[in-house]
Amino acid sequence: MPRTARVILVLSLLFVAFSSLVFSPVLAQKKSQPVPVIKVEVADFTGGTRLKITAGSNLNYSLRKSGNVLTVSFRTSSGLRYDRTPFSSRLVQSIDLAKSPEAFLLLIKTSTADFSYTQSARWNPFELTIELKGVEEKKAPAEPRPAAPEKPAATQVQTQPTPVAEQAGPPTSGGKKQVKTIVIDPGHGGNETGAKGTYGTLEKDVTLAVSRKLKEAIERGLKYRVVMTREADLSVPLERRAAIANNNKADLFISIHVNGSRRVKANGSETFFLSLNASDEESRRLAYFENNSEELENRVPEKDFDDLKLILWDMAQSAYLKQSSQLAEFVQQELNELLNTRNRGVKQAPFKVLTGAACPAILVEVAFITNPEEEKQLQAEDFQARVAEAIYRGLNRFLQLYEKP
Ligand SMILES: [Zn+2]
Repeated sequence: MPRTARVILVLSLLFVAFSSLVFSPVLAQKKSQPVPVIKVEVADFTGGTRLKITAGSNLNYSLRKSGNVLTVSFRTSSGLRYDRTPFSSRLVQSIDLAKSPEAFLLLIKTSTADFSYTQSARWNPFELTIELKGVEEKKAPAEPRPAAPEKPAATQVQTQPTPVAEQAGPPTSGGKKQVKTIVIDPGHGGNETGAKGTYGTLEKDVTLAVSRKLKEAIERGLKYRVVMTREADLSVPLERRAAIANNNKADLFISIHVNGSRRVKANGSETFFLSLNASDEESRRLAYFENNSEELENRVPEKDFDDLKLILWDMAQSAYLKQSSQLAEFVQQELNELLNTRNRGVKQAPFKVLTGAACPAILVEVAFITNPEEEKQLQAEDFQARVAEAIYRGLNRFLQLYEKP
C-alpha cells in the first residue's frame, strides 16, 4: 500500500513537473519570436488627419482604399498586436486590427469616402505616416479623384502587395469597363473531391459540369466575359479562387457546390451569401447554420470568426451585402422551382471562398449528393443543364434589377 502510494505520488509529481514545462506560458513565449506591437497616433490638421503608425520592428505593408475604409495590410509571420490608444478626429472614426488568411489588416474607417491619402515610411525603427485629406475641404478640381495615386514605399524594405491589396475596388469605382466579368467557381477539384454520393458521384465532377453549362448559358445570353477559377479537374486553394475573381475585376462571383449531409433524406438547394450582420431574420438563419454545421463545409474555424468579422463587415463583402443577398434570393427561387422542393432558403455563412471577393458573391449548393435520388439527378447531363439554366435565370433577373441602362 505505501509503496503504491509512493509510486502514485512520484508519478503525480512527475506529471506536475512535466505539465508545467509543457504548458508554461513563459517557456512557450521564449521559443517563438516576440509579436510586433503597432501603435497609431492620430492628429487632425487643417484639411486633414495625420496617422503615425509605429512598430518595434520593420513591417512589410501595402495600402488600399475601399469606400470609407483605408486598409493597411501587414504581411508578417510572427503575428501582430495593436496597442489601442484613444483618439478623437474629424475624419478618422475608428481603427481596428483584423486578421485575414494572408495578412494582418489595420482598418482605418473614416467619416467619408471622399478622401485622398499620401504615405511615407521610415525604417529602423518602423514609422509609417499616412496623411488623409478630405476632398471637400480642399479646393476641389472639377472632377475630384477619389484617391491619390499610391506612392512607392520608401527604400530598404520591399512592399509586397498581399492578395487583399490586389483586390479591385467596387466595379463602379474602377473607371468605365467595356466588358463585364462573371467569375464562376466550380467547387473543389483535384485530390480534393468534396462530398461523395452513395453511388460514388464526386462533388468536384458535378460542380465542374454545372459550371461549364452555366458558362455556356451566360455567354449565349449575355454580353459578359466568363472566367472559371478552374477549367479542369485541378485543385485550387480557396484564397486563389477569390484572387482570380479580383485579378479579373469580377463584377459577380458564383461558387458552385453540391451539398452533403449525414441525413440521407436531406434534399434541395441552398444559396449562401456572406454576411455576419445580425438583424432578427439574419440571426435566426445564423443560428440555423450553427446548429447544422455538419452540413457545411469549409467553414471558417470558430477561432477566426471574430477576427474575420471585422474584415468581412468593413471590407470586401460588406459593400455588396444587399446585392449578394438579392442575387442569392433570385437564384434560390429559380432552383426551388426547378427542384420543386420546399424552400431551404437563402442563408448566410462565413464560407471562406466568399470572404475575399470584392464583388457581389454567392455560393450555390445545387442539391444533396448524399441523397440517392438527387445524386442520380446530379449525374444526369440533362439535369445539370437545367440547373445551369435556373442559375442563369436568377442571375438574369438580378442583372435586370442592377444593370438598368
Ligand atoms: Zn462543396
